[in-house]
Amino acid sequence: MGMNGRRKLHVKSFGCQMNVYDSHRMADTLAAEGFDEADTPDGADLVILNTCHIREKAAEKVYSELGRLRRLKEEAARDGRKVMIAVAGCVAQAEGEEIMRRAPAVDLVVGPQSYHRLPDMVRRAADRRVVDTEFPVEDKFDALAAPSRDAIRMRGVSAFVTVQEGCDKFCTFCVVPYTRGAEFSRPVDKIVTEVARLAAAGVREVTLIGQNVNAYHGGGPDGRPWTLGRLLHRVAEIEGIARLRYTTSHPRDMDDSLLAAHRDLPALMPYLHLPLQSGSDRILDAMNRRHTCAEYLEIVERMRAARPDLALSSDFIVGFPGETEDDFRATMDVVAGVGFAGAFSFKYSPRPGTPAAAMEQVPEDTKAERLQRLQRTIDRHQAAFNAGCLGKTLDVLFEKPGKRPGQLVGRSPYLQPVQVMAPASLIGEVVPVVITEIGSNSLFGSLPHSTADMRAPMPALASAGA
Ligand code: SAM
Ligand code: SF4
Repeated sequence: MGMNGRRKLHVKSFGCQMNVYDSHRMADTLAAEGFDEADTPDGADLVILNTCHIREKAAEKVYSELGRLRRLKEEAARDGRKVMIAVAGCVAQAEGEEIMRRAPAVDLVVGPQSYHRLPDMVRRAADRRVVDTEFPVEDKFDALAAPSRDAIRMRGVSAFVTVQEGCDKFCTFCVVPYTRGAEFSRPVDKIVTEVARLAAAGVREVTLIGQNVNAYHGGGPDGRPWTLGRLLHRVAEIEGIARLRYTTSHPRDMDDSLLAAHRDLPALMPYLHLPLQSGSDRILDAMNRRHTCAEYLEIVERMRAARPDLALSSDFIVGFPGETEDDFRATMDVVAGVGFAGAFSFKYSPRPGTPAAAMEQVPEDTKAERLQRLQRTIDRHQAAFNAGCLGKTLDVLFEKPGKRPGQLVGRSPYLQPVQVMAPASLIGEVVPVVITEIGSNSLFGSLPHSTADMRAPMPALASAGA
């Protein structure tokens, strides 16, 4: 405990952006209980691991991290200090009691739907170990504290906002419907209030997130369910918001309202993450994706017609049960055909309790070999996309100082990091940048003359970025 009676909290996030958002909300909620967030677990009174269960590797990381934390807890105990260890997130949901059995140093296990109960759980865990992995009926978003202005500023000019959670699609490989529960959309008003608060503290870019974000159907102020496209139109009206994004979408839910949003909203960035998983219809069917590859390509075509500068990224799984060399080649063909600006690719990982885990598995070395081939193809297309940016002028939202003195780093509309020599006063500004060099991980650019003089810093951001 610090001199001021406040305690230190360290939250480590694994996995997706939904976990990053949840980690912030847990920290905001515990701030009201006297916890200040720290960057490292050293000296912390409470450490929360916010875990991911999507693939076996992700879940196993938690246990090795818990081994390290056990030693930290023992060292602290020798100094007469108590460190509390909590496991949150999807591993907590899926393996609550198992964690308690395997990791005796853990004091508290909390599932993703119970974060609003954390303050009470932390109090109770002082005496005995606590597990809460229920799906409560009350809305946790109503009970979680909003971030303070200082916390928003510290987190930067780009923020995530969860608008939808859970999933009813039951793809045969995926644990999300079991760990996050049924699909739920937050009401429009609550989202607008949250984004307005972020904008007032200096946030310029908001990414609306959900496991299945374009299935959004939250209640609008008119008492009817709104689509994601309509929500994006509303959020774009909020003063201070220069850029909008959303992720992750399912091809089945790409409706006309989203098409219209891409066509009509300049703030909506021309970059769409749309997972395909496989180029083979046979595999898509076995995955229960409920669309064909041709239907996916049709969506891409329609989106590109609505927004000609649109770039796409995707997720692919290789070695799904039953995947033949021909099925895999179909995936390679579609990657080359669409020309993705980037993509994530994964070896299929059998997850306990999901239908695909009980199917005939592809040998590990075949999966590894296919993954390598696919990643090489994806990298080639990504490099080609980046090379195509050379000499172009791209709008960059400056986020923070770069590695070198006098340098800032920001993001292009396509989420590429861009390094530019520019004054710190431009943090939080969207500025046209001429791309002069393509690096392996980022682009380099320069400001057109006089940009630095033309743009006055946003008042809220002048100190945030310095
Ligand atoms: N809702 C999104 C969709 O429908 O595409 C995906 C969300 S999931 C959290 C992110 C990605 O993890 C998926 O698109 C998929 O490629 C990958 N993934 C999910 N389960 C997996 C598994 N069992 N093995 C390998 N990759 C998996
Ligand atoms: Fe998982 Fe996405 Fe399928 Fe839902 S739609 S089950 S989150 S992969």
